[in-house]
Amino acid sequence: LGSKLTGHLKPRYVRVNTLKMDVDSAVQELEKHYTVQKDETIPDLLVLPPGSDLHAHRLVANGRIFLQGKASSMVAAALQPEAGWVVLDACSAPGNKTIHLAALMEGQGKIIACELNEERVKRLEHTIKLSGASNIEVCHGDFLGLNPKDPSFAKIRAILLDPSCSGSGTITDRLDHLLPSHSEDNNMNYDSMRLHKLAVFQKKALAHALSFPKVERVVYSTCSIHQIENEDVVSSVLPLASSLGFKLATPFPQWQRRGLPVFAGSEHLLRMDPVEDKEGFFIALFVRENKVDNPKS
Ligand code: SAM
Repeated sequence: LGSKLTGHLKPRYVRVNTLKMDVDSAVQELEKHYTVQKDETIPDLLVLPPGSDLHAHRLVANGRIFLQGKASSMVAAALQPEAGWVVLDACSAPGNKTIHLAALMEGQGKIIACELNEERVKRLEHTIKLSGASNIEVCHGDFLGLNPKDPSFAKIRAILLDPSCSGSGTITDRLDHLLPSHSEDNNMNYDSMRLHKLAVFQKKALAHALSFPKVERVVYSTCSIHQIENEDVVSSVLPLASSLGFKLATPFPQWQRRGLPVFAGSEHLLRMDPVEDKEGFFIALFVRENKVDNPKS
């Protein structure tokens, strides 16, 4: 398993920005130079052969298509926001999933895009501008500092939480970490401390997302392969989630690879494998059927 080889075999995915262009028109344009297929899971995603270089393509430069991977494109789709909803993207830069939300909501309703890092806020603003979305409000700050009781968040019905993670699933070079190596012992303490710190933040952020009063759907995602950032984060919030009326739902039920079997219900979770699916990724979906003001007894 060479990382270069794995990277090379990865198809090039492009997501059509349906705020600016419909999928069939994008296919027609791209077919002039590439072999193009529609993705079987995500309707606005197109699959091109590995190595297709579109960085300088006109449709990329004018924001009609975005170079966004399959796993990343599954996150906003799993949330299924409806046109007209108020939706919060908790950790949003550089904004790929934020603008996907805007497209799924057909430009209607409102998206609050929160981002802590000032430099990354600029990238977020650039992505939003390029997308043409006009219903995204950028909030530069700490998601954990947002007060769920603040009236400006009272109408939030869905939250996308894609927090900082180890990135162990996406960077092809890091696939080398899956193989035993002589430096493994040296890296182990550093890696496990870093993972622990990330997991502490991820658990806090997920618990915080669930605490917004009107939220009905929460997606938690990472591009990590580590259980500590994935199944363990989800299982740690289950008692809180259940006390608030949330259940784990099954995003993309037809998808075969589910969560590691480490707790009852982990079959609802979705995993992508860094080798077989060419990208390591994790998605959990919490759904509250009974609204807070009408709780089941
Ligand atoms: N969802 C983004 C996308 O698809 O383009 C990628 C998000 S990236 C995995 C995580 C982001 O969360 C980073 O930009 C990071 O700066 C931001 N972040 C980390 N801690 C945060 C916090 N406490 N509040 C808000 N944003 C935070």
